[in-house]
Amino acid sequence: MGVTRVPFDDLLSKFGIDIEYVDATDPEVVADAMIPETALLWMETPTNPLLKLCDIEALARLAEESDTLLAVDNTFASPSFQQPLALGADAVVYSTTKFLNGHSDSVGGAVLTNDDALAEGAEFVQEYGVGAMLAPFDCYLTLRGIKTLPVRMAQHENYAQRIAAHLQDESRVERVNYPGLESHPQHDLAARQMDGFGGVVSFEIGGGTEEARTLLGELELFSVAVSLGSVESLIEHPVSMSASYVPEAERRAAGITDALIRIPVGIEKSEDLIADLKRGFEAL
Ligand SMILES: *Cc1c(COP(=O)(O)O)cnc(C)c1O
Repeated sequence: MGVTRVPFDDLLSKFGIDIEYVDATDPEVVADAMIPETALLWMETPTNPLLKLCDIEALARLAEESDTLLAVDNTFASPSFQQPLALGADAVVYSTTKFLNGHSDSVGGAVLTNDDALAEGAEFVQEYGVGAMLAPFDCYLTLRGIKTLPVRMAQHENYAQRIAAHLQDESRVERVNYPGLESHPQHDLAARQMDGFGGVVSFEIGGGTEEARTLLGELELFSVAVSLGSVESLIEHPVSMSASYVPEAERRAAGITDALIRIPVGIEKSEDLIADLKRGFEAL
């Protein structure tokens, strides 16, 4: 997640906290990077924007053996599709702005844990340290959103699956990333670890930035925006938008190319969404 870099690199570093970024899709790479001082493993799965997976149970075992805490950013799966605490994580974090609220009308975050000491620490930081309190109306909107989370997630997934399948057949598309596709290299892990494959799809268009921008400009039902997890379908070009904070060399090493496009699939009629995509590709 691009913007996670900003507090990690520019804020936590001021408190003497060293952070090392590693490819957490391979637990052995994580194990090799650990040092005696390692206090926390922080990961997200599925990842943004490439929809790669990390094995939560394997990383939880590793954390346990090394007396380290494991925190999982579960924003993409939402609690409907993945429960990291049940898989051994010590803390789960959410951007409630996304699927939990689900209607693009509130910005917030949440930390969940089953560890009393951690909960107390988080409460202290929230209340007395940084004062990050959600306003009552945002709490109301978020709680109201959560009531329909399972039905929205089922629909997001159903439509994401259809759109991913359609994109695979599109001649101008070179690669589709979605854990629900059998072609996804970690499809088996997704089926084991998750109760659904999620509502975000990314793909590479033949060409690069120019083709991506042309497609984004042609679409009528997909708004160009960086958020995700809401009832309306969005589309973005990560290299110019959400991943622009990640240094170029690291972006390349991670596989975030100029040709990459991300679609958080909304819950509009999927036939209309697919017709809009078809028209957009024809205009290229
Ligand atoms: C959006 C997002 C964040 C940041 O949350 P904000 O609500 O935008 O501050 C963190 N992690 C993931 C996976 C996200 O999608």
